[in-house]
Amino acid sequence: MAIRDETVERFHHVKQRVADAAQRSGRRPEDVIVVAVTKTASPDQIRQLLELGHVDLGENRVQQLTQRVAMTEEFIARHHDIPSPRPSTVPDQVRWHMIGHLQRNKVKTVLPLVKLVHSVDSLRLAEEVQAVASKQDREVEVLLQVNTSGEKQKAGLAAPAVPHLAEQMQTMFNIRVRGLMAMAPLSDNPEDSRPTFTRTAELFNEMREGGQYGERFNVLSMGMSNDFEVAIECGANVVRIGRALFGEPVEAATP
Ligand SMILES: *Cc1c(COP(=O)(O)O)cnc(C)c1O
Repeated sequence: MAIRDETVERFHHVKQRVADAAQRSGRRPEDVIVVAVTKTASPDQIRQLLELGHVDLGENRVQQLTQRVAMTEEFIARHHDIPSPRPSTVPDQVRWHMIGHLQRNKVKTVLPLVKLVHSVDSLRLAEEVQAVASKQDREVEVLLQVNTSGEKQKAGLAAPAVPHLAEQMQTMFNIRVRGLMAMAPLSDNPEDSRPTFTRTAELFNEMREGGQYGERFNVLSMGMSNDFEVAIECGANVVRIGRALFGEPVEAATP
């Protein structure tokens, strides 16, 4: 089955490129987490990734996230039910990442499903996350999405607003701010992303060195299929990769 082999090959190729970029920037391969963005992946490709032992998956839409969490949970449960002569490489649990814009009325649905929300971009959203997390009695880990590229149509907080919001969130006891997330302007040339990534890393390092957000303020999520190596060179320790793992979408998902 060619498509399965292709997925395996793409996975190893991406992991190798991540490892090389990590080493170029003086870090170990395992210091960089690959979030496999499954929005264009088939169920078979997702299962294949889990069989390879991959743990971190990401979605940007709530409906698809909900479906895929159910699908992977069922696959994992069934997989571990079947006695196997060899130790299984399938993880016991997927770590799901919500990477897309989050509407306040979806917070209640999303929080129980995910390990990390990458896309908190307003005080109102943060307040809703806190209210729901408190009611559900859970601690929620989030990143603040920053618009360092300066494009008006891009989601995210303006850079100067980021420390301000993080400050306000210090009293939201059910939320743990783990770091920052950013996206570069769309371009065919990965080098075009470098200024955005450099600015984001500077902001991240300033906030981290200040120490007021604690030891666990240590996640910098940036870099996609077209620019993840540049992002890692700039300091990213989480990259969000879709097309490089699953191929170009076959059909246009949205008009
Ligand atoms: C789709 C998406 C990605 C992955 O994009 P690719 O170009 O397919 O790697 C990363 N981050 C976000 C927020 C996305 O929506």
